[in-house]
Amino acid sequence: MKEKPFVAGNWKMNKTVKEAVELVNALRKESNNLDEVEISVFPPYTALSEVRRALEGSPIQLGAQNLFWEEKGAYTGEISALMLSDLGCKYVIIGHSERRENFAETDFTANKKIKAALRNRLIPILCVGESLEERKKEETTKKIENQIKVGLEGISKEELSRIIIAYEPIWAIGTGLTATPEQAQQVHYFIKEKLKEKYGNEARSYAIIYGGSVKPENTFSLLRERDIEGALVGGASLEAKSFVEIIKEAIRGYKDKK
Ligand code: PEP
Repeated sequence: MKEKPFVAGNWKMNKTVKEAVELVNALRKESNNLDEVEISVFPPYTALSEVRRALEGSPIQLGAQNLFWEEKGAYTGEISALMLSDLGCKYVIIGHSERRENFAETDFTANKKIKAALRNRLIPILCVGESLEERKKEETTKKIENQIKVGLEGISKEELSRIIIAYEPIWAIGTGLTATPEQAQQVHYFIKEKLKEKYGNEARSYAIIYGGSVKPENTFSLLRERDIEGALVGGASLEAKSFVEIIKEAIRGYKDKK
């Protein structure tokens, strides 16, 4: 198990530059115990530079919400891994369900993006998860197994240790519905076992984290579960108060691991 919990705030398409800087300033002011947790924030591209400046001297790390796999060239509107690492990003979210749904991203494109991230020393966060329909049809594990298989195609054991996997059931994202700790734990365990199958018993990803309507009230019980090593937080990361509460609860849950 990871030594400290990993808590990430995905701001999605929210916050002007001014609002983004205000949020990290508030976050810096209200958060302490930062040596017991790994915190990162994922502002929109437009605010990355200013947020990085506002985070100077803080252990809070910066990440981006997406990238394009080519390094440079005629790809109007796209941003490369090289550009993100040049800006000071440490992490990048790959294959979020909102990108799969709205921008036709696939496991195949996620795989290309992961490789581009790794080439540029970024830690990718690969998002996987089932729809409600798939869960009802008991196809959760089949879906996730395939997402991992294709998403991690051609990835070495050493590279795996630099990849975070986020289990994000689609039915729990932005809906207020959360997987129960038991449901989430089951899938996290399944992911861990699949990674062992592919890479051997000692194989470890950087972390396996949970996302889907994480709130201060449910963080403790989720993070207590054996194989839940962190949280990817959307809506509740848009305000310093709730994000800081989640960080505190994550630390508390982690200390009380089953
Ligand atoms: C997310 O953006 O990855 C997410 C889990 O969102 P929310 O917490 O709002 O469900």
